[in-house]
Amino acid sequence: MPDSTVIGAAAPRVRFAPSPTGFLHVGSARTFIFNWLYARHNHGTMVLRLDDTDVERNTQASVQSIFDGLRWLGLDWDEEYKQSERLDLHRGQAEAIFAKGLAYRDFTPAHAGDDNQSSSAQGAWLSNPGMRELSREESDRRAAAGETFALRYRVPRGEGRVLRFVDSVYGSQTKLADEVEDFALLRSDGMPTYHLASCVDDADLGISHIIRGQDHLTNTFKHLLIFEALDAPPPQFAHLPLLVAPDGTKLSKRKHGPVVSVTTYRDAGFLPEAFINFLCLLGWSPKDDREFMTLGDLTAAFTLEGVNRANAVVNFSEESPFDAKAVHLNAEHIRALPVERLASCLQPFFEQAGFHATPEKVLAVTQLIRERIKVLREAVGAADFFFAEELAPYDPAELIPQKGDAALARRVLEAAQQVLAATPFDHDSLDKALRDAATQLGLKAGQAFQPIRVAVCGRKNAPPLFETLVVLGRDVCLKRIGQALTKLA
Ligand code: GLU
Repeated sequence: MPDSTVIGAAAPRVRFAPSPTGFLHVGSARTFIFNWLYARHNHGTMVLRLDDTDVERNTQASVQSIFDGLRWLGLDWDEEYKQSERLDLHRGQAEAIFAKGLAYRDFTPAHAGDDNQSSSAQGAWLSNPGMRELSREESDRRAAAGETFALRYRVPRGEGRVLRFVDSVYGSQTKLADEVEDFALLRSDGMPTYHLASCVDDADLGISHIIRGQDHLTNTFKHLLIFEALDAPPPQFAHLPLLVAPDGTKLSKRKHGPVVSVTTYRDAGFLPEAFINFLCLLGWSPKDDREFMTLGDLTAAFTLEGVNRANAVVNFSEESPFDAKAVHLNAEHIRALPVERLASCLQPFFEQAGFHATPEKVLAVTQLIRERIKVLREAVGAADFFFAEELAPYDPAELIPQKGDAALARRVLEAAQQVLAATPFDHDSLDKALRDAATQLGLKAGQAFQPIRVAVCGRKNAPPLFETLVVLGRDVCLKRIGQALTKLA
């Protein structure tokens, strides 16, 4: 069911608005996903808007990394904009706000470039004396003389004006206008600040719901003032709880390293559906507290009422770089995936490892290892013996069965050589023939199979034996058993 808040209302329009100043942060990915789920659940529109007006900090590499991350997640969007292509609109609206007397020119050089997204400009309106009070005439004269200026919002002072909104997650929010500084709308280089560009675009694009990180909660008071100056009704706001490290500090690349970047999960072999599932449970929970959820499940269940206020902890440490829940969910999603799709996800990992990995072989191998891996990258170590020309060196003692000796191991392997050379190479024939051979040697199947498994795989812990033999093929198996006998000699 669509959200109760939008029944009868127009379909919602939401936006994800990354600033291309770094890689795609897991927190940003979660913001994107929550917006997407909200749009899809309510049959609304998902807008992607690149907040790229900070020319000094934007990089093409960052734009690339954001798009790479989003493409990997595999979620789509309906409309796409770049703020840098909308500067005329931002400046025009700034002028309109100025013309209404709701903004003033600030010629103070030290504050002319204020483009701070945080609200911590420490009473900046106090330290640019005289600017707010400058007469329009004087202001026009100095501007005409070529002095540079920033344009600041004239926040109501001394009127006891209370700014308020009801956040869908954090509830009723109020702040005295007297506690909000005269924030900049345009910087002295003529570029719009985040506050101005964001609100002008949100109004122009008809954004109905702003779903973004909790770190923007206090910015919202400034945004209310801008929407008011634009004569635009403010959207509904929903702020999302912060993602924090186990020590409670905000997740940041500088402090916490690669674990905060989406591509780290991709490269380690998380499935996008599992990563999405994991991120959704950071700060949101479905009514029935399920954990394993497909994208379809999430879309059906997602409501803003399910978003929690408490910071969401991402658990990681030096020994386990990924949250155990992420790994567990990934293993479940790996098992739930159709084997053909899983095989195509594994293909690049095998290729990167340098294996000669034909799609047919990868498919066959995938069937055998899917229960044995939690992240895709583990497949390389779990399946290397299927692809390698030569086995990695192993300890010949591994070939010796329990309660046996080297002589017994040799007898088993010699019998296996004869059986494998003479038996049709399919699962059932090998199963029967090798069991018969074990019986003839007076051994239990488990005892007899260990030397064979180690001889062909180079390890005790490997997928089921007969399937493995079939995928390896007769020639490889016989060659490896011959090599094992040499090792025992
Ligand atoms: N570009 C802003 C950011 O990346 C967007 C904040 C917002 O959603 O308003 O933090």
